[in-house]
Amino acid sequence: MRGDYETVIGLEVHVELATKTKIFCGCSTAFGGEPNSHTCPVCTGMPGALPVLNRQVLEYAVAVGLATGCEITRDSKFDRKNYFYPDNPQNYQISQLYLPICRNGKVEIETGSGKKFVGIHEIHMEEDAGKLIHDERFQCSLVDHNRSGVPLIEIVSEPDMRSAEEVIAYLEKLRMLIRYLGASDCKLQEGSMRADVNLSVREAGKEELGTRTEMKNLNSFRAIIHAVENERERQIGLLAEGNSVVSETRRWDENKGCSYAMRSKEDARDYRYFPDPDLMPVHVSEEMLGEILAKQPEFRTEKIERFKREYDIPEYDIDIITESKQMADLFEETAALGGQPKKVSNWLMGETLRLLKERNMDAEDIRFSPGHLAALLSLVESKAITGSVAKEVFEKMFEEDVDPEVYVEERGLKTVYDEGRLREAVEKVLEENPRSAADYKGGKQRAIGFLVGQTMKAMKGKADPEQVNRMLREMLG
Ligand code: ADP
Ligand code: MG
Ligand code: ZN
Repeated sequence: MRGDYETVIGLEVHVELATKTKIFCGCSTAFGGEPNSHTCPVCTGMPGALPVLNRQVLEYAVAVGLATGCEITRDSKFDRKNYFYPDNPQNYQISQLYLPICRNGKVEIETGSGKKFVGIHEIHMEEDAGKLIHDERFQCSLVDHNRSGVPLIEIVSEPDMRSAEEVIAYLEKLRMLIRYLGASDCKLQEGSMRADVNLSVREAGKEELGTRTEMKNLNSFRAIIHAVENERERQIGLLAEGNSVVSETRRWDENKGCSYAMRSKEDARDYRYFPDPDLMPVHVSEEMLGEILAKQPEFRTEKIERFKREYDIPEYDIDIITESKQMADLFEETAALGGQPKKVSNWLMGETLRLLKERNMDAEDIRFSPGHLAALLSLVESKAITGSVAKEVFEKMFEEDVDPEVYVEERGLKTVYDEGRLREAVEKVLEENPRSAADYKGGKQRAIGFLVGQTMKAMKGKADPEQVNRMLREMLG
């Protein structure tokens, strides 16, 4: 019989930091360069090359630690994690084992079942490895070191999550905080945020943790949800039949919807960690800590409170607009340029979110400027253009940040109020649609809607629907 089981989950989250240069050398972190063009003796592990810590990496790591309620380790250091792999020419990764930069934090998450805290065991700084490219045609593997030495932080949670829903809420919270800080763009698909899921199950009511597995290769929220649910069922199935869970690392295959054992803890590597003798110990002075604290942005909770005080818009809107700092800033800047707050939030929550979703983009990818959004709003407000023309202009603005005034002028998109021209169009529509005209005259009020639509179409959307309506009623008597 299957008893009641509880799922226990802890995450190890790697985040690529948004620094311009690598963690221990001056090479560029830009993505997509010619293979091995962003390299030097340090990040290709040449003997005798000496690493020096990028101060921005330390500042970002501390900032993320402060945002997640961690204690900052004022004197930390780097350790070598020794292993051989062809994407790692030093044969060790520089990481932090004994004294991670941040410890003992927590973040609050909210799910359908309420609010709770997820503990953060630690956050440490480390370097990324290179990338192997397996070439089918020449039957060989190539290595690209452009990613070698790109700075990472690894955020290790306590095993505090109990469901896929909590895992997603936790990841969304981390992503939101880190994006507010500008410390990373946190894109799972592009690998700038990567989550390894540690999962075990235990009989309900039991104190002791069950044996866990670790799942890798999860590059979307959907894959994470599937992997959690699948692994939970697999483990419960094993236990229910009297078998035991093997402590191992598994690889999730989202296409097949199942995971495979990669390596068991039996042959877990001994990394022989030891302090890196090439790097100075890391000291976070009182002064530096003060500077980083002073630079922390206004986070979402405070922003929501302030928006409630300062803007006359519904709480629902505030909730959505503050999900990202970019969106919140865009809102405030557009409002400061004269955009009526509720109108601004309508455009952000409506067309902006619709286009972002349609194009699989994040608020961080928005390119149009607040000035242009304010200009568009004022064109609508002054009735220079109609709502449907505004949407068309907005789409162009969303794509290329065109100046709406110039665009409207160049394309002749202004609403035509000229009675003569409108009358011509209406007469033509009535001529072409005698049935609808007769219907209306016979008492069918609805027929007017169709005729308005036809006239708007004839005017290419550049007429004022109210004026068209009025004129039609007049002419139909
Ligand atoms: P390791 O050093 O082997 O990776 P850690 O103790 O650092 O192990 O834990 C890694 C992650 O696994 C942490 O996020 C932790 O919360 C989680 N974890 C540890 N034990 C369990 C367990 N029994 N069930 C679920 N998650 C666990
Ligand atoms: Mg681990
Ligand atoms: Zn380099």
